Amino acid sequence: MFTPEALREELAKPKQIVVTTHHKPDGDALGSSLAMYHWLKAKGHAVNVIVPSDFPTFLDWMPGRQDVIIYTEARESSDARIAAADMIWCLDFNGLPRIHAMADSVRAASALKIMIDHHLDPEGFDDYRHWDSGAAATAQLVYDFIVNAMDDHNGITPEIATCLYTGIMTDTGSFRFQTTTSLVHLIAADLIAQGAKNWEIHEHVYNSYTEARLKFLGFCLENRLQVLHEYRTALFSVSREDLTRYNITTGDTEGLVNYALAISGIKLAALIIDRTDQVKLSLRSVGDFPCNEVCRDHFNGGGHRNAAGGNSNEPLQTVVKKFKSLLPEYKTRLIQ
Ligand code: 5GP
Ligand code: MN
Repeated sequence: MFTPEALREELAKPKQIVVTTHHKPDGDALGSSLAMYHWLKAKGHAVNVIVPSDFPTFLDWMPGRQDVIIYTEARESSDARIAAADMIWCLDFNGLPRIHAMADSVRAASALKIMIDHHLDPEGFDDYRHWDSGAAATAQLVYDFIVNAMDDHNGITPEIATCLYTGIMTDTGSFRFQTTTSLVHLIAADLIAQGAKNWEIHEHVYNSYTEARLKFLGFCLENRLQVLHEYRTALFSVSREDLTRYNITTGDTEGLVNYALAISGIKLAALIIDRTDQVKLSLRSVGDFPCNEVCRDHFNGGGHRNAAGGNSNEPLQTVVKKFKSLLPEYKTRLIQ
């Protein structure tokens, strides 16, 4: 493992760098990656951000997004960049399966691997880590890395502040979740002082629905929500036809699962969606209920205690049935 001093020394000479993040990047993944991109570029490095898949349109305004390479759209040239890199920065994930088709080339690369992340159970592919599963967002750790580990508060430009604020805002559900400590607010305040326009970021991310997306939300609330009071659980199951009918694309289902938690008394919320390749699960909880354990033990996934995800190759209704059949096993933890 490298020390911060050793890494600082490495960064003193210009490097070929690849920055990457998890499949279907969210605000924290893209915000952390683009913040790192701007910071490393300003230090004189040649940097490419390569992400495993497309990202939501509500993030398509972020400073630097036009330079992001989508791996599946440029596989050969991306593999060449990964193989030639001196360093690969891995942000907001800690297991290579999370970068899907990129995993093999990143694993095989001789580059120094730096991981900045806040998920549980790191796989251990990294040579340097700035990791804290108690952090509200990877963007919080990127801030801590730049300001404290690299001692470079002056390096926080308005672009970087904007990217980091977006990451913290989205991963805390707009400063609502239990992870939102006073330190998180202090960092957010500093990011505003460094040039993040908080109200503008909020508008971009939360008030940028298409009419179809808002109607899809209404449709799901009315027709796709099941409330299982006995287990203090509520779930949405969304079919492929539903997605097509409302022309739903990447990111349009973001936040939907949280509506189920708005019902008084509900401790666990699930969103089960039939995507083209797989059925995807998103779980959210309040309090101590461990969403990550359910996803890890039954749905090939993981995440945090209060927010986790997984997937399955079975048909939608089979996955819904399986999810419901697990609830008795968790009943005492759900109703306590
Ligand atoms: P979401 O439900 O928004 O897709 O993801 C919630 C959280 O769970 C995120 O922190 C995400 O990184 C994590 N997560 C989502 N899907 C997976 C998965 O398939 N595997 C693992 N290990 N984590 C996931
Ligand atoms: Mn995150």
